[in-house]
Amino acid sequence: MLRLVLAYTVVILFQELPHGLACSEKLGVSRTITIDTSGGLLHGSVQYKTASLLREGEVVLTFDDGPLRPTTRKVLAALRDHCTKATFFMVGSMAVANPAMVREVADAGHTIASHTWSHKNLQRWSDGRGKAEIELGISTIQYALGKPIAPFFRFPYLADPKAMITYNQQRNIAVFSIDIDSRDFRTRSGSQMRYTVMRHLRSRRKGIILLHDIQISTARGIQSLLDELYFEGYEIVHFEASNTIPTIPAYDRQAVKLHTKKRFGPKVQPVEHIGTRHTEVNLIKEAGVNQNKPASERVKNDWRSRILLGN
Ligand SMILES: [Zn+2]
Repeated sequence: MLRLVLAYTVVILFQELPHGLACSEKLGVSRTITIDTSGGLLHGSVQYKTASLLREGEVVLTFDDGPLRPTTRKVLAALRDHCTKATFFMVGSMAVANPAMVREVADAGHTIASHTWSHKNLQRWSDGRGKAEIELGISTIQYALGKPIAPFFRFPYLADPKAMITYNQQRNIAVFSIDIDSRDFRTRSGSQMRYTVMRHLRSRRKGIILLHDIQISTARGIQSLLDELYFEGYEIVHFEASNTIPTIPAYDRQAVKLHTKKRFGPKVQPVEHIGTRHTEVNLIKEAGVNQNKPASERVKNDWRSRILLGN
């Protein structure tokens, strides 16, 4: 009986201790900045001159292009180990491919933001197509999550046409550039990624760090990067939004169809034509058409292969 009581006590202690114990000597979150995105502010010194929200020694962790289960899970595990929080700029088509991962990231307390529908370089497309990329990204990620995402946006490849900046501002969406580039898409090595981040950080002393949760170097190196940030005394700031923005019903309908099509395959009706040539209709058609192209073209058109060349 005594043994049973002791065992029970140990179990209780074990259940109660982890947060206190596991989170001591870890990064944690030093402060949360709640951002009102009204007017669509621009953040990130690489592209914008607005004043930084960060003090010396503070960093914000951002992860683009996911979610992708194998690598995103490694990132989540490292963040959990350090009891810390990040912002994930997700791609709509990736959210459609794996909506459960969107919820898994959100359930861990991270901020969910958008990075367009299909990771196009918006400098190379019309304004109409750009708007569709932005809106369908938001609607598909939000549908996967089941509740509003943060009105935070990052341009693919950091390519930010003036008209699209204006559009985000009119929509009260905050645009996030970066301060520090991990260049994780240029290497498979976790230590190289960590070295690049720390080298830039030692000169800048603070900043929004760009990482990609789909990149193997980040999946491999994120734990040691967080360890090093902790040992060097950096503090993690978490960005949250104080507001949400209404999505556009036409894109919400497309989001439902895309998610349903993914779930049930070819039985689903083709998407309806609701707009002009530069709207989401062409965008979705392309996504579908891509599946019918020869493998060689598919690879060429697959943004995940092109992502290796940029942000
Ligand atoms: Zn990207």
